[in-house]
Amino acid sequence: MPIGTLYTVSAPSGAGKTSLVKALVASDSQVKVSISHTTRTKRPGEVHGVDYHFVASGEFLAMLAQDAFLEHAQVYGDNYYGTAKKAVAETLASGCDIILEIDWQGAAQVRRLHAGTVGVFILPPSQEALRERLTGRGQDDQPVIDRRMDQAIDEMTHYVEADYLVINDDFNQALAELRAIILAQRQRLAQQQLRHGALLQALLRR
Ligand code: 5GP
Repeated sequence: MPIGTLYTVSAPSGAGKTSLVKALVASDSQVKVSISHTTRTKRPGEVHGVDYHFVASGEFLAMLAQDAFLEHAQVYGDNYYGTAKKAVAETLASGCDIILEIDWQGAAQVRRLHAGTVGVFILPPSQEALRERLTGRGQDDQPVIDRRMDQAIDEMTHYVEADYLVINDDFNQALAELRAIILAQRQRLAQQQLRHGALLQALLRR
């Protein structure tokens, strides 16, 4: 059985990453999304074990001391976020692919630790489109939007570190491109040799 592929999917917020990954996973039972651990408080509507594994700082730090994370980060000062090694390893061993929705720093940590990681970057079609998406329903004031744009541009400067680039202009087109990346990866020779070992032997028999 082939082992799954580990994907990092990065994007500036507002590029549509979460919706694309959700749609991809809904249409392909062989792809799973990694659920991160976090110490931040649960927002209304979020579910433990679905959106995140919500844990106390003590538990997170104990896991960190046990080297239980593939990567972790402290975001916005005081909240920890991390990807548990165990769940990722179990998913890959079951033959499924796993997607880590993490920023460029997390993706870089994962690439260093896990050979064969495939990096995907999702970009918006223009700065104007991104600004519009970040402006949302007009509830935020200009300095807040400007700060988000600045952060988004910082994140976007790292697109060159990815293996694949998807521009999310038309949602269905971007989803088709994301699927094509996953399919192409599964057709790679080494994966196909694991999947079809018996057939390949039989085909070459004289
Ligand atoms: P939020 O608290 O809004 O859900 O996420 C805040 C930030 O943490 C986002 O930029 C998100 O991508 C990042 N994040 C979520 N999970 C992880 C993780 O497991 N590792 C890293 N490095 N960042 C994460």
